[in-house]
Amino acid sequence: MIKTPDWYKETPCKGRDRLFFSSDKVDRTTAKKICANECQHVDDCLMMAVSNELIIGVWGGKTGPEIERMVNAA
Ligand code: SF4
Repeated sequence: MIKTPDWYKETPCKGRDRLFFSSDKVDRTTAKKICANECQHVDDCLMMAVSNELIIGVWGGKTGPEIERMVNAA
């Protein structure tokens, strides 16, 4: 379990784990759009996900497998 930064407490994904951790492709696409269009912290979030290897769910506008590829390429 990582310690989430203060900015994470007020984000569009708050309380939407069923969407952001869904295995459904349509849900993942919706979550990615929310990150891209509604979140002010998308870059910080992606950095947090890559540095903590958060490869399950949608973070910073990327899916877990996309983040995993970024982790492996780093
Ligand atoms: S970028 Fe997406 S997952 Fe990250 S805090 Fe914003 S809405 Fe949530």
